[in-house]
Amino acid sequence: MGHHIPADFDTLAVRAGQVRGSEGEHAEAIYPTSSFAYASAAEAAARFAGSSPGNVYSRFTNPTVRTFEQRLAALEGGAACVATASGMAAILSTCMALLKQGDHVVCSRSVFGSTVALFERYLTRFGISVDFVPQADPAAWAAAMRPATRLLFAETPSNPLTEVADIRALAAIAHARGALLAVDNCFCTPALQRPLALGADLVIHSATKYIDGQGRCLGGAVVGDADRVGKEVFAFLRTAGPSMSPFNAWVFLKGLETLRLRMRAHCDNALRVAQWLQEHPAVERVHYPGLPSHPQHALAQVQQDGFGGIVSFEVRGGQDAAWRVVDATRLISITGNLGDAKSTITHPATTTHARLSANQRVEAGIADGLVRVSVGLEAVEDIIADLARGLD
Ligand SMILES: *Cc1c(COP(=O)(O)O)cnc(C)c1O
Repeated sequence: MGHHIPADFDTLAVRAGQVRGSEGEHAEAIYPTSSFAYASAAEAAARFAGSSPGNVYSRFTNPTVRTFEQRLAALEGGAACVATASGMAAILSTCMALLKQGDHVVCSRSVFGSTVALFERYLTRFGISVDFVPQADPAAWAAAMRPATRLLFAETPSNPLTEVADIRALAAIAHARGALLAVDNCFCTPALQRPLALGADLVIHSATKYIDGQGRCLGGAVVGDADRVGKEVFAFLRTAGPSMSPFNAWVFLKGLETLRLRMRAHCDNALRVAQWLQEHPAVERVHYPGLPSHPQHALAQVQQDGFGGIVSFEVRGGQDAAWRVVDATRLISITGNLGDAKSTITHPATTTHARLSANQRVEAGIADGLVRVSVGLEAVEDIIADLARGLD
């Protein structure tokens, strides 16, 4: 592990993208302004025409948002980044910019619920078809390819079962047919996984999660090359307007400064929690890529620089037993959010995955006894003691 994170990652996380203003401020400035003023009519005309560089309107560009975009692009190793109002806005903007009527998408079956809804309910209305395939089975992805396939979409590790997709293998399948691979890198962040270096064309983020890291702001981003992201996704964003606010961009860019330290601490705590759960007699099964029992443990070891902060486990006794574990907690927050300094706990079958039918849940591996914990930064002994209350 640790082989594909560049040596200057920590420096870029703290420094990339900052342009110090005329006040000499040390921390990055926030520019809460909707528009920008010009010295003359001629300058305004040149800015609008795009012949002179500079800001016009914050739906298009904003200095604080640009600092965040340049910093995240540097960390992901991409030429361009477009920041968006939420993670879902990043996925929507990517699809609207790069897909057209008649195109076909192959998507992992294990992606975020709203991503499934966006593809199934909305893209199909505009003549874009989608097939869902098992996340960890490259042969199923290859078999789903059609001449019209334009985009492969994966999220790895997945929520809540932490299935790991083979990014290199999916990139090869996509590129052999002239399609693009997009990877939702929400669970790992560039501190643990850099999909572009593994062959992906686009990286999607919900900055709402680990990039913020303290559960404050909604935001998202698309990272990739100068043409598709810097021109096409940006053109959609500036036209349609799901842009990131300067205040949120500032929160996220400060989050990037401590991202790697936080992710290491999340990984350390999560591994301890997973190992403890695995030994507990009331627990039937633990899903965590850091455990040798995880089906893609070896792949996660070469593809990731840490196993992440999300642990799921099946409690013996179904929904009643799982709810007992959730309800017995006093420290861990009962909430659907993840990637926070505060540990959170959810019962997927009755919350995040409640929209699925019982059959779909069985197919997706969402057992009634399944509990998901986003392991936070509290003392790990306290997190374990809190889970023990409902399990012992
Ligand atoms: C939360 C999440 C999203 C959506 O992000 P929002 O910021 O809530 O719009 C997308 N993908 C994954 C993996 C997520 O966890």
